[in-house]
Amino acid sequence: MITKLSNLFVRTLREDPADAEVPSHRWLVRAGYIRRAAPGIYSWLPLGLKVLEKVETIIREEMAAIGAQEVRFPALLPREPYEATGRWTDYGDNIFRIVDRKGADMLLGPTHEEMFTLMVKDLYKSYKDLPLSLYQIQTKYRDEARPRAGLLRGREFIMKDSYSFDVDDAGLEASYDRHRAAYQRIFERLGLDFVIVSAMAGAMGGSRSEEFLAVLENGEDTFVRSPGGYTANVEAVKVAPPAELPIGDAPAMQAFETPQAGSIAAVVEILNRDLPGREWTGADTLKNVLFMVTEPDGKKRPLAVGLPGDREVDAKRLEAAMEPAVAEPFGEDDFKKYPELVVGFMSPVSLDGTRILGKESSTKIEYLVDPRVVTGTHWVTGANVKDQHLTGVTAGRDFTADGVLDVADVRQGDPAPDGSGPLALARGIEMGHIFQLGRKYAEALGLKVLDENGKLVTVTMGSYGVGVSRAVAAVAESTADDKGLNWPLSLAPYHVHVIATGKEVEVFVKAEQIADELSARGLDILFDDRKASPGVKFADSEVMGMPIIVVVGRGLADGVVELRSRATGDKREVPVDEIVSEVIAVAAAGGLQAG
Ligand code: ATP
Ligand code: MG
Repeated sequence: MITKLSNLFVRTLREDPADAEVPSHRWLVRAGYIRRAAPGIYSWLPLGLKVLEKVETIIREEMAAIGAQEVRFPALLPREPYEATGRWTDYGDNIFRIVDRKGADMLLGPTHEEMFTLMVKDLYKSYKDLPLSLYQIQTKYRDEARPRAGLLRGREFIMKDSYSFDVDDAGLEASYDRHRAAYQRIFERLGLDFVIVSAMAGAMGGSRSEEFLAVLENGEDTFVRSPGGYTANVEAVKVAPPAELPIGDAPAMQAFETPQAGSIAAVVEILNRDLPGREWTGADTLKNVLFMVTEPDGKKRPLAVGLPGDREVDAKRLEAAMEPAVAEPFGEDDFKKYPELVVGFMSPVSLDGTRILGKESSTKIEYLVDPRVVTGTHWVTGANVKDQHLTGVTAGRDFTADGVLDVADVRQGDPAPDGSGPLALARGIEMGHIFQLGRKYAEALGLKVLDENGKLVTVTMGSYGVGVSRAVAAVAESTADDKGLNWPLSLAPYHVHVIATGKEVEVFVKAEQIADELSARGLDILFDDRKASPGVKFADSEVMGMPIIVVVGRGLADGVVELRSRATGDKREVPVDEIVSEVIAVAAAGGLQAG
């Protein structure tokens, strides 16, 4: 197939779009692949659509290979099923809600667990119908708080979502593993450097869950890995608690003066000055941070988090742990409601043993602690009196937390929870997410089948998503350079960009002939037949990013044309009657078998 650039609906831009923060966004817009319609909402132009279709084809092939069948649900959905599972409320401001002319609530689907569950319930009644895997490639809508980076985080985006239905846990495990393997093949074929990490299930519910992250500096996700092979999204890291210590060995509580010590560092300095004999650090202190938690139904409750003073509460870990509720730091007005709390010197307990934090305490504020705060550990913390701190405040003796909340920041060099060595941190973009949902949705919506013994059993489900439009951007992000896009052969809108330069008619005739011959051999050709300067044509070819570039120009008089690689920038002259076989050889080396 040949497309003449003079006919193609495209305009390349010389300037970056004002809101472009990352290379994929900048170049997809500048090269004329996508155009912004509204914040987080994009239109696809011919070049972009071709890449999108190639990504979809890879996904369809791998879904077919595991026996998943393609369907398509509407994007405009009724409220009731989402009400039944609680997600109408849990999704909060993240769903686009619509009221139809009769006043009925509807939504634009953010994900389709409910609809698939109901469809299978409608049609299937027996264990003999299972296992079943269904998928769709479809437009999803989420009113993201922070749409950014073009296609990477849109408010309208394309997702491949599949759902598996099994009669028992072993079946679910097998369906999950099949999807996991298919996802590995998909991301390998997309040419992405990716890791599979343990993930949080979030609003989705369910148990086992993993994410496929493309390793990219501009990613929004932080993940950890250890030399021994532990990997996790930072949100999902579960800190291994240390061994408990005998309470009898703990020192008694003691107050000491800390005038104007408004920070952990200041407290540590005073400790080392006034209580010498050992080296005190921030890790010896217990910091208490207050949050106001808002439940999806709008109810509010206070929460205190106790963690080692050398750590901060990590906003993303907190967000993931609290979801679908939202925790925000206590404001001045919140503190006014608890006059007994002495800001800067907060403590779960006072010197006389009165509990200050915890459901059973005078404030009744729920108190959750970091996993490192185990029974028998003793801490320096506030005295709940201005300018005073306490030493020897011992967990399990002086205070008891209401539970554990694992939301402290995870650092480079922290031990992996499974003992497999120090953690290294890196950034990535979530490309895919697989979940074992279990029976949550089937239970809420009544999806049951008859088992072998004629007994009704609730079906167990998995849910598996790939960001299809995000994948286009992630590949662009990982391959673009300072000149523009740079596609692998498997995803490029065209395999070869043939450029005719100069004014001579013979050059244009020869260039078109080469394009024709390559096309006849099964390659897709973009032919720059425009009356433009060579500089403009070369720049456009670099911005647009086709992997193989053939330049027909002045050298033709000497019987040569130029063959360029977009990826390496290498150029070499090739005799004109060898160019077709040469291009075919380059394509074959890149994994593309031409006819
Ligand atoms: P994220 O953590 O990035 O918000 P998510 O956990 O909400 O994603 P899922 O519900 O697991 O995402 O959706 C499945 C896949 O859809 C994700 O792995 C991602 O590739 C893609 N995706 C999710 N949200 C967006 C978005 N706003 N824009 C583009 N792709 C998205
Ligand atoms: Mg996810």
